[in-house]
Amino acid sequence: MRRKFVVVGLFVIGLVWASSWGAAQRGGQQLSEEQKLLQVMHSIHSQTLYGYVEELASDKYWGRLTGTEGYNQSAEWVASYFKKWGVQPAGDNGTYLSAFPNPYTLIFEDCHLTMHIPHKDGTIDKHYIYEEEFIPGSTSDSGEVTAEVIYVGYGISAPELGFDEYAGLDVQGKIVLMEREAPVSPNQDPEVFKKWRAYSFHQYKLKNAAAHGARGMLYNYHITNPNNAFAEGFIYTHIGDAVVKDIFSGTGRKHKDVVAAIRKELKPRSFNTEKVYTIKNTTEHHTDGIGYNLVGKIEGTDPVLKDEIVIVGGHLDHLGRCYEIMPGANDNASAIAVILGMAEALTKSPVKPRRTILFICFGAEEQAVAGSKFYVENPIFPLEKTVCLINMDGVGAGDKLSALAAQNYPDLWEYVKRANDKYIHRIVNTSYFLNNARPRLDAARFMWAGVPSLSFAAYGSRSFYHVTKDNMDIITPEIMEDLAQMLFMAILEMANQDTLDFRSTAK
Ligand SMILES: [Zn+2]
Repeated sequence: MRRKFVVVGLFVIGLVWASSWGAAQRGGQQLSEEQKLLQVMHSIHSQTLYGYVEELASDKYWGRLTGTEGYNQSAEWVASYFKKWGVQPAGDNGTYLSAFPNPYTLIFEDCHLTMHIPHKDGTIDKHYIYEEEFIPGSTSDSGEVTAEVIYVGYGISAPELGFDEYAGLDVQGKIVLMEREAPVSPNQDPEVFKKWRAYSFHQYKLKNAAAHGARGMLYNYHITNPNNAFAEGFIYTHIGDAVVKDIFSGTGRKHKDVVAAIRKELKPRSFNTEKVYTIKNTTEHHTDGIGYNLVGKIEGTDPVLKDEIVIVGGHLDHLGRCYEIMPGANDNASAIAVILGMAEALTKSPVKPRRTILFICFGAEEQAVAGSKFYVENPIFPLEKTVCLINMDGVGAGDKLSALAAQNYPDLWEYVKRANDKYIHRIVNTSYFLNNARPRLDAARFMWAGVPSLSFAAYGSRSFYHVTKDNMDIITPEIMEDLAQMLFMAILEMANQDTLDFRSTAK
């Protein structure tokens, strides 16, 4: 008896539930356009985006170095989603890929750095620890060099500035120890920096060392960095404080003071450290590498406005193996995850964009920002008709966002701000971007080409840059969900305005 009651009761509850579900379904047809839009916005889910990052950061893509098979396969994987959702190909010959020349270098496990300390009749060798103390140069030639280390400051020969750090030095066959950047920084005095700018490039510094006959380089920049030149027979490695300290010990100089003096007086402080080091790298250079930008579009519905383009971009590539696999979860699988989240939502949105939305997953950002350089030199749609680029770099680790160049383009920023204020409510820090240093972001290339651009990054939690620890452990998926939802709403709104001009109000 009692049992029967329970069964009947459950049946009644079931009926009530079924009829209210039906009512909700019927009511669903009366949802306002904004409610439907919000449903799609909320369908962008942190768990899905986390899954995308996990896939791209996995070992099967070998760190996504542009030019390698791992990179190509990661591009194919992203393209398969574009295809599934109906994002149309915008690349070469009806594909999603836009090819450009891109040499690259593979770095293998047999890489070492050793200091030889004189002891009695021989030497004692100190072997440094991979990654913790040194990281092999990502464009180093293969081979071994044992030589004295000559400190050359910033490694700059600028006769017109009365500054030559190689003057009076013989570095023939030697290893040079060098600082990164230039003794003048871009934010100190933009006008003064302009004169030094050309000397701040990694490529210049490496080639200048090789041109002076140096055989190797210890680069005081403790990260993995394929953004450099390849010079035949030139072997180099990146080092951190522990190695610098060893080299300066017993020289009567403090590294910190020497650097401060160069910066203050703008006079070279080069000297022979008399330390002897061996750099050994095992690498393979490919001059004939091909890189790809991955491009897909959602064509605008308006016969006229569809010729105006809103670009959403982020780089797909990372550092490859150096010599461990560099996962690049935050840099920049995170941005590709956000692009995928937005792309799916935009294809399913009840509101269709009147302007064309172009997604670009850039290649070779890590190799001299080459993919975006290729795009602005060979644009698929005219740059004058390109309304803006919304770029993302490192958007997967943190609880706050920064919007670089938001203050340069206040009218563009207003669209994102409105979406954030209305739906998301994250802290977004805006800044003015001078953009006079060497390009380090895809957005910088577009700004130079006159395209209004914003570049988003996340901050506020533990993060690692260009080391193996940029992996899934640091990813905070909620920030990606919030950014994707925010940009989804902002981009739809701007894509549907009657007129859009972010250039005339640019600051
Ligand atoms: Zn990046």
